[in-house]
Amino acid sequence: MKIFKLKEELKSYLNSQDKDKITSFVPTMGALHDGHLSLILNAKKNSDLVICSIFVNPTQFNNLKDLEEYPRTPNRDIKALSDINCDVVYLPEISDLYRTNEKVKQYQYNGLDTYMEGKGRPGHFDGVATIIEKLFMIVRPNKAYFGQKDLQQLQIIKHITKQLNFETEIVGVSTKRESSGLAMSSRNKRLSSSDLEKATLIYKTLLFIKENAYKNSVKELKETCIQKFNEEPEIHLEYLEIVSLDNLHPIDMYKHNGCNAACIAASISSVRLIDNIIF
Ligand code: AMP
Repeated sequence: MKIFKLKEELKSYLNSQDKDKITSFVPTMGALHDGHLSLILNAKKNSDLVICSIFVNPTQFNNLKDLEEYPRTPNRDIKALSDINCDVVYLPEISDLYRTNEKVKQYQYNGLDTYMEGKGRPGHFDGVATIIEKLFMIVRPNKAYFGQKDLQQLQIIKHITKQLNFETEIVGVSTKRESSGLAMSSRNKRLSSSDLEKATLIYKTLLFIKENAYKNSVKELKETCIQKFNEEPEIHLEYLEIVSLDNLHPIDMYKHNGCNAACIAASISSVRLIDNIIF
């Protein structure tokens, strides 16, 4: 497995490769778990060269404490990637990607950012889009793999990829979960075992929504589920939205089967978790 710390070295390596090779890219912020590895394994099935980046992107954090406390395990990550035969890892320092005091670009998301993460984390998606544009310019992948776990991010990346005229195909991969149902997340490392147990309410509620949709109105179902969180004072519910999958706007009436999503953001012991289900 090749490891690059400098974009110019990565670019010249990629330039030296056979142009017919299908290259797939998996951008991550490290502290890799089986969810990340499932993206790489999916990418490997459909490509000749898989590139993974590990970079904790400062511009997408709107909370300094969250950025500082974000887990960083580069040696473990390199071992995990090498064990599954990832071809290339790009592990840059901030200075390789950002000039001093560089500001993020502002993008248009056609309303995909109006609710949920876009509303609760101002500037977050501009940080995400900025780093994805930079990384795509370096890697120029044929395909890039992203998790459905970050559904709004996935839809926004599909949108900006088209807007910026990248020819990269964006592939969404289903969410990998712990046996408890909790979505795997690097942030789970910051939770105690009792917090991990409490956090299972998030996925239980999403399953409840999927099972009870259409039988109850959107409004009734949301109220019932919000009440479940209110009964758990140690979990702070930031939002619970039932949205249309195409524009991510909250709905009053269900769309066709497979065109709705329920999305939750909640914090436990100051650790912010998100999850969703499509139904
Ligand atoms: P992150 O390191 O959190 O930026 O995530 C890197 C990529 O892994 C993103 O495309 C995420 O959506 C994806 N990802 C994170 N957690 C999971 C999971 N549990 N299952 C599948 N993909 C995931």
